Amino acid sequence: MDASATAASTDFDAIIIGAGMSGMYQLHRLRELGLRVRVLEAGTGVGGTWYWNRYPGARFDSESYSYQFSFSKELLAEWDWTEHFAPQPETLRYLNFVADKLDLRRDIQFQSRVASAHWQEAGRCWRVTLEDGRSYVTRFLITAVGPLSAPTMPNIPGVEDFKGESCHTARWPHEPVSFEGKRVAVIGTGATGIQTIQEVAKTAGSLTVFQRTPNWCAPLHNAKITREEMATLRAGYDEMFQRCQETFSCFLHTADPRNTFDVSEAERQAFWEKLYSEPGFGIWVGNFKDMLTNREANAEVSKFIANKIRSRVKDPKVAEKLIPTNHGFGTRRVPLETKYYEVYNQDNVTLVDIRETPIERITETGIQTTAAQYDFDMIIYATGFDAITGSFDRIDIRGVNGMALKDRWEMGPETYLGVLVDGFPNMMMLIGPHMALGNIPRSIEYNVDWVTGLMRTARDRGLTRLEATKDGVTAWTDHVKSLAEGLLTFEVDSWMTGVNRNVAGKQVRTVARYAGSAPDYRAKCDDVAAKGYEGLVLA
Ligand code: NAP
Repeated sequence: MDASATAASTDFDAIIIGAGMSGMYQLHRLRELGLRVRVLEAGTGVGGTWYWNRYPGARFDSESYSYQFSFSKELLAEWDWTEHFAPQPETLRYLNFVADKLDLRRDIQFQSRVASAHWQEAGRCWRVTLEDGRSYVTRFLITAVGPLSAPTMPNIPGVEDFKGESCHTARWPHEPVSFEGKRVAVIGTGATGIQTIQEVAKTAGSLTVFQRTPNWCAPLHNAKITREEMATLRAGYDEMFQRCQETFSCFLHTADPRNTFDVSEAERQAFWEKLYSEPGFGIWVGNFKDMLTNREANAEVSKFIANKIRSRVKDPKVAEKLIPTNHGFGTRRVPLETKYYEVYNQDNVTLVDIRETPIERITETGIQTTAAQYDFDMIIYATGFDAITGSFDRIDIRGVNGMALKDRWEMGPETYLGVLVDGFPNMMMLIGPHMALGNIPRSIEYNVDWVTGLMRTARDRGLTRLEATKDGVTAWTDHVKSLAEGLLTFEVDSWMTGVNRNVAGKQVRTVARYAGSAPDYRAKCDDVAAKGYEGLVLA
């Protein structure tokens, strides 16, 4: 990148941590710049989220075609999706197909979990060290570690004591797992738990679900894609991706321009019935525009969904347990389901509400609550992630003067555009905190292209050090916080507000997520680039 002696003393121009979708695409783009790049990946294969989350029933909740890479006509032309919401094995096959087509693996080092990354001011470079002690020097460090990739086990005493089979959903084995005739427990009822439960219930001898907080779920309405349909979809790709660029969160769905009470009760009910009967996230992100800002509006839609749950679950007592009471519809990420509620009508399925009878401990043979001891052959932990900042916290990242990123973010993340942090020169984050999440592959492509533009500038101008200014970080962080004001989503504990009761220091809500629109986010980043990277000190 730079013809100086210091460039010669680096192993790479850029190291990317993680070979998920963002790391894969970033590698491809930096290679186009002719840089020496290495991806360090903890797993044995590409795919990130779709490599690790192999739990039963894992699948897209967004339309498969809208969730693929859009940057290559060749990839788009050659890959056929078989379901509107692809199951995890298909998505992982797709990402391996991409890795093959772009010949990515030759620059990806697998089984290489990064333990630390320390900034070296003298050489203007990062020293990156793996858990096994191998270490590399790179000019630039790009994190592609994912917002949901640091799984957390529940802080219940005795987790280590259980003698049967047990697994966190994000660490699921690569070999097939049978539930046939087994007594299975699932702890956790987020999007992952719900997909797991509806699948395991099909074959388990018995399934016991331990639910702490019910979530508002809505039907996925998945279907196979026929050959003819695939051809029609492909013919419309340009238009579809254009639409994704224009919507608030890059989804195919976008908020209805009306407010909830602009229309009559009958019209509201008909609109919600329509959304409830359609595939995907329409009911969440295509609903009335005030659903997540107006308390009364939110209460109305919550009532509608509660009645749907009541109509689908035969035992009224069980139905009430499945209806959330501490948050409104859509204020947490809405899990999409396929006959999830009907599972509780099956004889082999039991719901244990652990708000009523808390789990006391995991024992050698099962789970002990305040009311009973349950024996199991298998316990599945669908207990989620130390989200957004958790995957950063697990790496000892130290910037100028040895400052730890974890300490820097103790009170919540502070960033410039969600990409840079002052005091951490030459480090760029893909899908880091303060980024527009939404349809993540769309955000990834924008994020990577922006970072690539910055890297091109660095290459062309022979830059060896770039750092966000303190003022830039303060202004962006304040802006992100102001966007969260008045949103009901930020009044609720969830991974989206940085809360994980299993992790010390993550009990208090923070603004870790950018809540503005994706077009606004892109406009801001484009403007910063057009102004010669305003808010950065380039050297
Ligand atoms: P999650 O939404 O954080 O859910 C974790 C669940 O575990 C919650 O029900 C939580 O209860 C429970 N839990 C955690 N610790 C517990 C404890 N000590 N005792 C009892 N229960 C405990 O995590 P997730 O379901 O893995 O989903 C995370 C995100 O991943 C989703 O929101 C979504 O964005 C993404 N995801 C996407 C897909 C997809 O696209 N298809 C599928 C799965 C996940 P509380 O609510 O009471 O804390």
